[in-house]
Amino acid sequence: MSNSEKVNCHQHGIMDYALVCQHLVNQKESDTPIEYFSGEDIGDLDESEVENVWCKSCDDTLIEQGEWNDVSEAFAAPKVICIACLQTIKNRNMKGEL
Ligand SMILES: [Zn+2]
Ligand SMILES: [Zn+2]
Repeated sequence: MSNSEKVNCHQHGIMDYALVCQHLVNQKESDTPIEYFSGEDIGDLDESEVENVWCKSCDDTLIEQGEWNDVSEAFAAPKVICIACLQTIKNRNMKGEL
């Protein structure tokens, strides 16, 4: 294990973190499940070991733009959240095929 940085989650304490698009982070429990996609490196943040997760509308924007650039990255506006919170988001939604 490398000494990757941690996040202090108000629910889970000191945890590893992931970058997750604003739509998934802001989703409410009562919202309809959506497809999510998982990969590495939204934009040029140099954090290759960090999992990046984004939703269907972000993926549509990504396909439209052809890559993570200013437009697609601004649309996703990825947030740092802990991996346990990410797991909750994953459990609520369904994994899409890249
Ligand atoms: Zn999104
Ligand atoms: Zn958490």
